Amino acid sequence: MNNLVFASKNKGKITEVIEIFRPKSINILSLLGLDFPIIIENGLTFEANAKIKAETVFDALRVPVISDDSGLELEQLDGNPGVFSARYAGEYASDHENNEKLLNDLKNFGEPHFAKYVCAAVYYDGVNYFSAFGEIKGKIVEKGRGINGFGYDPYFIPVGYELTMAELNLNEKNIISHRAKAFKELIKIIINRNLYEK
Ligand code: IMP
Repeated sequence: MNNLVFASKNKGKITEVIEIFRPKSINILSLLGLDFPIIIENGLTFEANAKIKAETVFDALRVPVISDDSGLELEQLDGNPGVFSARYAGEYASDHENNEKLLNDLKNFGEPHFAKYVCAAVYYDGVNYFSAFGEIKGKIVEKGRGINGFGYDPYFIPVGYELTMAELNLNEKNIISHRAKAFKELIKIIINRNLYEK
């Protein structure tokens, strides 16, 4: 079994990424439980931030690392919250606070609130650097539903669905999500380069 460290402490993301890599027999470790300092994400793009996370964790641990940076883009808000999605309502804002700010910012706009989730996933082992991207289009609704997932999921309805992302289970989210698309692409790259057993 190959191990990869996922440069994240976000339990929601970690759960998803473990499942995405499971069919490839790649075991995902994370920063949960480690006393790892907060990584400053000051990149201007999702990929730049994902790269910062992967390089920082590789420099500290010296093992192959994967990371992602992701967020929600609203058409009516000119692409915001974008790379600021995790800290939209402030530096250490909770999901609840971020959702409240989002709904407040959308108050003066009519529905539908067209949106998309975007994810950049990267791999870095000190020599090789690969990146891959995924997105999923949908809309934000004003009344949240569902208890699965994390972040903006109770308010996000994917195109073609009536359920929110938080009403889908883990397997259903992992078939369509921005993160699943990005990491499945990244897995193909890693395997094609023979960095891992097929
Ligand atoms: P990151 O850890 O800097 O990539 O922050 C990602 C933030 O974007 C999360 O804290 C959420 O607010 C939002 N986000 C990204 N992906 C998802 C998702 O799959 N569901 C819900 N919110 C997401």
